[in-house]
Amino acid sequence: MKKWIMICMLMMVMVFSGCSNAEPQQKENKTPQTTQEKEEIQAVTSFYPIYILALNVTDGVENVKLTNLTGSQTGCLHDYQLTTDNMKTLRETDLLMINGIGMEGFLDKVIEENPSLEVLDTSEGAFLLEAKEAKGDEDDHGKYNSHIWLSIPNAVKQAENIRDAFCRLDPDNEEQYKKNTEEFANAMKELTDQMKNIDLTKKQNAAIFHQGFEYFSSDFGFDVAFRIDADEDTTPSAKEVKEAVEKAKEQNISVFFAADDIGKQFADTIAEETGAKVYILDPITSGENKKDAYEKAMQNNIRILKEALDK
Ligand SMILES: [Zn+2]
Repeated sequence: MKKWIMICMLMMVMVFSGCSNAEPQQKENKTPQTTQEKEEIQAVTSFYPIYILALNVTDGVENVKLTNLTGSQTGCLHDYQLTTDNMKTLRETDLLMINGIGMEGFLDKVIEENPSLEVLDTSEGAFLLEAKEAKGDEDDHGKYNSHIWLSIPNAVKQAENIRDAFCRLDPDNEEQYKKNTEEFANAMKELTDQMKNIDLTKKQNAAIFHQGFEYFSSDFGFDVAFRIDADEDTTPSAKEVKEAVEKAKEQNISVFFAADDIGKQFADTIAEETGAKVYILDPITSGENKKDAYEKAMQNNIRILKEALDK
């Protein structure tokens, strides 16, 4: 009986202490910083979506210097190569925030060789879709689909993981981090409510030209007839394009979702032959460095998904 009371009390303490302590790869016994260093936290994100989430969490906190390692226009990091400038930035980093799920393969060696570098894997606790092979894609991208931020509940989870890391690193500003994250979560709640209003009774089948859009299919509840991956390194063959045309005709796939990249060219080519309509969605891997960039891009994605599927 006493044991149960102890467990209950422990749980109460955990609930009321605000920021949780569940963080991976946390550096134990961090060496005390000098006063000068402590003034500013050098926080670094691996790429654009994580940067925008971190901008939301740290908004208004003056002693955080946030840097996006790969800039705002790099896109996905599947084939990114580490630069000497990146190495220089990482040497002065107090906290490195990554997406995880294999997105930052280029950092594996750096992280392994620098055990003192504090790394936050923001995917901790996120919902993961298994990676499905697509036409044109012969690379092994790992077991799971790494574009997790495209699922709104995942973006909230990632923001919460970022919040927890900052609360530990900078407890003086805990209230601000918590308030900011709650504001972001509330904005996301409004977006998910809009998603629920999309009626999928007429069109439930679409083709996608970006792996990340599988998270939209999962969240919005439409089926993916086929997926074609096309980028700088991945190109579907003529045979695969022909097969896609046949499948789209056979199954009457009238909706294609593509990002505004090379995938769009394939979507346009196939659509021309089948009469499907191409809709452009934003994978949110590049854009403006603004706090509301994720929210705006997602809002626009929802509008387009509604236009394509709900009529
Ligand atoms: Zn990608």
